[in-house]
Order: sequence, then structure tokens, then C-alpha cells
Amino acid sequence: MKVANLSKTYRHKNGEVKALNDISMELPDRGLVFIRGKSGSGKTTLLDLLSGLGEADDGGRIEICGKDIAHCTERERDKYRNTYCGFIFQEYNLMPELNVKENVKLSLELNGERDDGAVDRALESVGLSGYGDRKITELSGGQKQRVAIARAIVKRPRIIFADEPTGALDEQTGASIFELLNDISASTLVVAVSHDRASAEKYGDRVIELADGKIISDSDAGYESQATDGAELKTPRLSMKTAAKIGCINFKLHPVRFIATLLLSVAAFSFMGICLNIAVSDPESNYVKAVYADGYEFAAVCKQKADERYDGADSSLDGFFGGDGRHWKETIVKPADGKILNSVYGGPICYVQCVPIVDFQREVTMPIRQLLKETSTDERAFAVSANGFIHVDNADIAAMGFNVIGRLPENANEVAINENIFNTLSYGGVDVDGVNYTFESEYDILGFTLSVEQPYIDDNGNAGVIQGKFRRTVVGVVDTGCGKACASSHFDNVEHPHNKVFVCDGFIDHDGYADGSFIICKVDADFDKLANFVLHHENDGVRFRFSDGMSMGYYVASDNLRFVKYICLYSSAVLFVAAFVLLVNFIGASMRGQMKQIGILTALGADGKSLIKIYGSSVAVVCAAVFLLSTVFVAVAVSTFLNALIVEWSGASFRVLRFAPWIVAAMSGVVALCGITGLSIPLYSMRKLTPVDAIGKGQIK
Ligand code: ADP
Ligand code: MG
Repeated sequence: MKVANLSKTYRHKNGEVKALNDISMELPDRGLVFIRGKSGSGKTTLLDLLSGLGEADDGGRIEICGKDIAHCTERERDKYRNTYCGFIFQEYNLMPELNVKENVKLSLELNGERDDGAVDRALESVGLSGYGDRKITELSGGQKQRVAIARAIVKRPRIIFADEPTGALDEQTGASIFELLNDISASTLVVAVSHDRASAEKYGDRVIELADGKIISDSDAGYESQATDGAELKTPRLSMKTAAKIGCINFKLHPVRFIATLLLSVAAFSFMGICLNIAVSDPESNYVKAVYADGYEFAAVCKQKADERYDGADSSLDGFFGGDGRHWKETIVKPADGKILNSVYGGPICYVQCVPIVDFQREVTMPIRQLLKETSTDERAFAVSANGFIHVDNADIAAMGFNVIGRLPENANEVAINENIFNTLSYGGVDVDGVNYTFESEYDILGFTLSVEQPYIDDNGNAGVIQGKFRRTVVGVVDTGCGKACASSHFDNVEHPHNKVFVCDGFIDHDGYADGSFIICKVDADFDKLANFVLHHENDGVRFRFSDGMSMGYYVASDNLRFVKYICLYSSAVLFVAAFVLLVNFIGASMRGQMKQIGILTALGADGKSLIKIYGSSVAVVCAAVFLLSTVFVAVAVSTFLNALIVEWSGASFRVLRFAPWIVAAMSGVVALCGITGLSIPLYSMRKLTPVDAIGKGQIK
């Protein structure tokens, strides 16, 4: 090794320090060379430069095996250090989380080499055979330094640098370490810094003394080195597995802080995810899904008109968040509205007028209680009333899959009853003016007259029905296919055709009887289109409105959520910043806490890439844990108690809040961003530190 005109100037705020001033010397390939001098004379600086840990001032050269390592790229210095150099520190700098053998092995692993017995041989040569499984904390100082020496020699470097290797040891132990270094120097160059003059003279093959950055004496000043072949520079190749193993040692360092911050981050990310999930929640699509999932056969649509008395801008908070504050009143639905719905929805649609219950009890011979009791075991469904009139034509009947025995009514004096009413009438027979009629089959009732009320509105606008007097001829029995199970399942949704009396169009007074008019739509695969139209269409202050139990929940939920969604949207932005800062800070803090470790790893041969692998894998583990825990928490919270809360709040009979799968992607993206940011900032700033600086700063903590 040839050193020529080597200088090093440190610059800091108050000026410059010339730590080395024009050093020239040549070093042999083997032997123990001591560097002596007072504190601050430049010994460590010289060692740093010789071992490729720092860059020299312009002009100087450090030539080893034909290469100048004073001025080359950082990558090349990493390779040089990795291939040529071993380090021994005053403070041992072993990893306390690893045992003896693992510490030595680490040096091999960082260089991508396998342990083919080299670890045991190295331990044997420092006199520590059988100590492999010992914990570092169980060793004496001298033993620790022997482990450090084993770690330095295990990868068989050409030069071993030892900065005050005995500084922390008593005289006797120090002497044995020097003896060991002396042995090693038989085949390797050992450059040792020490201010112990006696030892230097006793064990050193050569002693160089520094003062104020200059060589003031050299016991072998005229030495000229022979040109030797350079070993090929190896790039450190750290396997991902080993990197992850080393990286995960870090979790053991501060378990409490680690778990606390992990939980805090999980909480912040979870709340962010929950807010985001609520902000993008879509009660409309969940309502449609529920209509399908619950097998709703029919949806009823009515109409509302904005009440002019309440017109005007809404200045309340609700108005600020998109509400318009208008009041709505039911209004008359007409067949023309059915045409509007038909234009967006091909499914069968029919016009219905609901009136106070149309009952047939008066016609039935058997007392109603007895009838229901007797029929309770019958497989057929029975109905003693109908809750409205429905106008359908043959095309509607076909589209709904109904079956007509007889025919549909053609004038206002004719009706068709559904099969459940027929069942009731036929079971006990019908009593008209003291005469009892019985029906064996549906055909027997065709032509029979029943009293069916006509709804009306009087001159004062009061609704009513004309009872008893109108006898209508039954011209058909409509089998709607609604048996016992169907009849009982319709409790919460009264607006369906199964319980209506079928009449002709002319029967219904479209202008006269407004309340309780609506359009029944059969739910088919296109129902989502209809829903989209009905829920959003508004024309001239008139809007449609679903009017069944399921949609009630939807309306309340979406009204309630409108405000909440805005809050959640803004909150998720705030929580994002909080979660980001928290996680990035945590990663940064724990990395700064590991500065010493980073310094040791660098000295052992880890380059920037290896450090990214090591810390990247531990950050990845943290991020994966944060991501998994918070995603699971969001999924569970949203689909269980938060949904239950909103369902309870709005009286909906369906799942209003669903876990949005893209939240998974959003969360993983955000967490990954935190990981990359948290990792790169401290790594970038620490790369500028030499290992010795890093170890030094790490020790302050
Ligand atoms: P020694 O190891 O002989 O005690 P050093 O090589 O550590 O001496 O230091 C030589 C001089 O360089 C000292 O004056 C020291 O203060 C200065 N020095 C060392 N490292 C730095 C640094 N990173 N920044 C600024 N000055 C430094
Ligand atoms: Mg020093």
C-alpha cells in the first residue's frame, strides 16, 4: 500500500481543521503497524481514509494493488472495504441481540458468503472455541474483543484496521489482544492505533507517530512496498432473507415503543380508512343490492311535489352540505307517470290505486276467526281482504308470469279476484241475501257477483268508499302464484299485486282519488336503472319516490349520511396527514436509534444497497403489520358495528355501509408511501456519515 501526499480537511461552521497534512508512507502486505500519537493528532482520520471510509482532499493518493481508493466512487470504496478490510473497534461494537457465532457470521453474510466452517475456525484462532452460543453480554471485555477480531478475520481480509483495540481493556488483557493481533499479522497487514508506547514497541513490526496531522517519526521510514496483484473487488451481495433477519433484530431493541407506535399508527390508519369508507359509502347501490338479495319482487313508486310555501334557499348547515331544505308533499300519480318510468325501465309496470281495505268478509258464510283457524293447516293461502285496485292488461299479466282463469275485466262492472280471495270464498261458501253459494273450482265463481266498493272523493275533498251497493261480476281469477310463504313474506311490503283486485282502466278515477296511488314495478335485472332514475329524477318541482319498507330506510340513511359523509371526507384528509407523520416519524426515529448498528454494518462491509435491504425489510414488516391490522380493523368495523349503528339510526332493513374493497388498495398505497418516505429520509442523511461517526452518534443516545 502506497500513501502519497495524503491530506484531509474537515470543514465546520467555525472554520477548517486540517486533520491530516501531507502524509506519505508505504506499508507492507503483512505485519503489525502501529500508529501512535496524542488525541486529536489524526490517527482515526488516517485509519478512515486507509480503510475507504472517507474521501481525502484532492491531490493525495492511496494506492493499493494498483487502485487509488482515496479518489474513487463511493460504490468502489464500498467494494474495497468489503473485499480488503476488516475492522476492530475500541468499543467492540458487537450486536448484543446476536450470540457470538451469529456476530461472526454476520460479517460473512453481509458479503453474501456462506459459512463453510470459517466461523468456527475464526473463533478457534482467537481462542474462543465452544463459545459460539454465548450471549455477548455474558462475555468479558477481552472475550468481546476476541469476538470482534474473529468477526474481522472471518472473511480473510488483506488489511485489518484496529482503532485503539485495547483502550477499554486492562493492561494484561490488552497485552493478550496485541499478541493475538501479532499472530494474525503473520499473514495479514494489521494497522493498529494505540497510544500505548510500550506495547507498540513490544509487538509492533513498525511504529509510526503522528502529531498535528503529520508523521513525526517512523521506525521503518524508508520501506518501499512491492507491487502486488489486486484481488478482484467484490460487491457485497446480501440475500433478502439475511437482510430481513438482520432488519428484524431491530424490533427487539425497543419493544414498548415499537408496539405503542404500531398501535397508534394502526389507530390513525384505521380511522382514516373508516372515514374514507364512510365518505364513499353508497347507500343507493346497497339499497339496490338489498332489493335483489332479499328477493323483492315489486317496488312501488309514488310522486311528490315541492311545497311552494317552503321555497327558498336553505341557509342552514344542512344547506351548506348540499341539502336544499325543501318540503315535499304526496301528489297524484297518473298512468302517464308509468309511461315515464317505462321509458327508462322495460320491466312490467302497472298502475295501482289503493283504497281503504276492500273486504270480502261480509260475503263469507263462516265467521272469520273460525275460517282462519280452520284454514291454518291448509296448504293454500287465504285472504279476506284486498288492499286496492290494480289495472293490468294481458301483456302485464304475461310479463309478471301470472295466470288468468277466465279473463281480465273489460268494464267498470267487472273485476277479477286473486286466487287467495277465491280460496277464502270457496272454503266456507258465500252467503248472499240468505242464499249460500259454494264453488268447486275457479270456473264456478265466474259470472258470480260480489259487492266491491267504489272509491270516491266528495265535494269537500274527503275520500271515502261507497259500500255494499255495487255488485261487480267476477270475470276472472288471477293466479299470481303467491302461496302461503309468499303471502306471509309480504308483511313489510304491502305494495305488490298479489293482494289487489284486478279492474279495468276505466274503473279507476285517476283525478278523483289521489292518496295511495302508485305504480308497481316488477323488479328485474334492470332494476338498478329504475332505481337510479326514481332516486334522482326531478322535473319542475316534482319527483318520484319509492314507497316500500326497504326504500324508507334508504331515504333516511342517505339523508343522514349526506352530512356525515362530508365530515368523514375532511376528517380522512386530516387523519391521513396525522397517520403519515406518525408512521414516517416512527420509522425515522427508530432508524436514528439504530445509527450505531448502521455504522457497524457499514464497517463490516454493508453498502448503501445492503442497508436499504436491511432497513427496508424491517420497515416493510412494520408497514405490512400496520396495513394488515388497520385494513382488517376497517373491514370489521365498517361491516359490523358502524353499519349496525347507521342501520339503527336510519331504520333501514338492509346493510347501508359496506366495506369498499378499493380501500385496501388506498391503504396499501398510503402505508407504502409512508414506508418509502420514512426509510429514505434518514438513510439518505446517514449515508453521509462515516461508520465511525454513525457509531459515535449512536452512542450518545
Ligand atoms: P485522533 O484519532 O488521533 O484522536 P482524529 O483523527 O479523530 O484524531 O481527529 C483529528 C482532528 O480532526 C481533530 O482535531 C478532530 O477534532 C478533527 N475531526 C475529526 N473528525 C472530524 C469531523 N468529522 N469533523 C470535523 N472535525 C473532525
Ligand atoms: Mg481516534
